[in-house]
Amino acid sequence: MSSDLSFACTCGTITGTLLNVGPDQGDHVICHCTDCQDLTHYLGHAARVLDAHGGTPLYQSRCARMKIRSGRDQLACVHLTDKPTLRWYAACCRTPLFNSYRNGRIPYITTQLAACDPAARDRLTGAPRGHLFTADAIGDTSALPKMSMGTLMRRFFPRMVRDMLSGDRRRCELFDPDTLEPIAAPHRLTAEERQGLRRD
Ligand SMILES: [Zn+2]
Ligand SMILES: [Zn+2]
Repeated sequence: MSSDLSFACTCGTITGTLLNVGPDQGDHVICHCTDCQDLTHYLGHAARVLDAHGGTPLYQSRCARMKIRSGRDQLACVHLTDKPTLRWYAACCRTPLFNSYRNGRIPYITTQLAACDPAARDRLTGAPRGHLFTADAIGDTSALPKMSMGTLMRRFFPRMVRDMLSGDRRRCELFDPDTLEPIAAPHRLTAEERQGLRRD
């Protein structure tokens, strides 16, 4: 059975595939941090993406395993805060798609599972390894299995090293292979835009 997982924005302009998806190939996590929550409000997809505890299902994997099939020119990206995380979305319908580092130097790609084939995503990614930033979550999260960023970083580190040693760092669809700069100019939210967050 194929271990490839297709994704698409809600209007279907951007389509593509995550290759070689599996519980040991990447990490399926649920992130409750305020930035992930804010992102879905900013893009107008909170009701569709967030779970009852404000969690965003994510799959972090190696940077060159994501292939765009169509709509590449509709990819847009935004920095919600001064932090280096770059949030990629579809300009056509504002579907959140990926998170990455601000450039391709630290290679990883984190895919929004809400944009992935619902019939296959849980089977391929496995059960979530845990919930990140539950202190920011909505409601009672005492029953949720927690995961620390340190644990995720330890799992991410060997993938990062492989991406660097194999040359995959220069094969990520989101970054220019030569400069490792993002293929779309990032927008950084203004103070006014930040204040307007959470009003869906
Ligand atoms: Zn988050
Ligand atoms: Zn779209």
